[in-house]
Amino acid sequence: MYPNDGDKAEDLISKADIVLYKSKLQQKGHFLFFNDSINKQVKRDYILDAQLRSALTNNELTVVYQPQISVKTGTLIGVEALVRWNNTLLGPISPNEFIHVAEDIGMINDIGRFVNKQSMQDILQFNRLTNSNLRLSINISPKQLMEPLFVDDILNTAQDVGIKNQLITLEITENVLIVNVKKAQPILQQLKDSGFKLSLDDFGTGYSSLSYLNNLPINEIKIDKTFIDKLLTNNQSESLVKTIIAIGKLSQMTVVAEGVETKEQYERLAHLHCDKIQGYYFDRPLSLEALIAKYK
Ligand code: C2E
Ligand code: CA
Ligand code: CA
Repeated sequence: MYPNDGDKAEDLISKADIVLYKSKLQQKGHFLFFNDSINKQVKRDYILDAQLRSALTNNELTVVYQPQISVKTGTLIGVEALVRWNNTLLGPISPNEFIHVAEDIGMINDIGRFVNKQSMQDILQFNRLTNSNLRLSINISPKQLMEPLFVDDILNTAQDVGIKNQLITLEITENVLIVNVKKAQPILQQLKDSGFKLSLDDFGTGYSSLSYLNNLPINEIKIDKTFIDKLLTNNQSESLVKTIIAIGKLSQMTVVAEGVETKEQYERLAHLHCDKIQGYYFDRPLSLEALIAKYK
């Protein structure tokens, strides 16, 4: 709007272009006016984009590991690898914020390859040091999964590092599969045939979860934190968690609850026969050094 958003044609056109893009992302045929929050978001995206491009070469990315505890034995059986980005200009940035930027600017494959290799090396080191068979879960973004070389790449990395595929679980979000289930199916099958386990992350937040379970080679489901949060206060959440665990048992799948923060939540989940627990109640994500120090 002239003159509030600018008094030069280029300014007005460039801002109109930005809101056009934002508006299309929200809904086709929608309308939107330029405002300060859009302006801030665009500026932040721009800096994130620029900084992320050099994050790998500047060694700004690290991987931390969140313990997964077996309910039956009360012991550590695996860890989930979670990427961390600490940038000199911006400070620590959550993967919730930068993973989608990485996908947009085509950097997700490089970041994914880094996480795969680093986490496989680290967990192999843990296992050698402690003479154990700790399992490793890695988050795979949808864009990564659909990359033509993804399967070859991860197979090569595991082989180079020298870790058994059987120890590795790949976590894929349920929402992804809704869009591309036909394309994902053969890729997942190939991964399973190579020995990897597959986990359906954020389970319960998507739409047609049940139909996937029949069509996809899934070994594990992870109950989303939103259900665990309400487990003790909302009857519907408890019924849902119970049902998910029952579905898991019926389909011979491991059921993991994530975001478990209290003893009461843990006890309820144990009572409901959930298989594995992950959350701040046991541990926050830890560096390799902290993991070794605490669990060796
Ligand atoms: P996610 O896969 O659902 O991971 C669980 C998130 O919950 C992690 O956040 C973890 O730190 C956090 N969390 C675990 N236990 C608790 C708890 O008890 N309470 C609370 N409040 N939070 C808990 P984080 O590390 O910030 O990761 C956020 C998301 O970013 C992940 O969600 C995952 O979708 C994505 N992500 C993280 N690392 C990677 C990666 O290496 N590759 C890809 N593609 N995505 C990643
Ligand atoms: Ca995950
Ligand atoms: Ca999750």
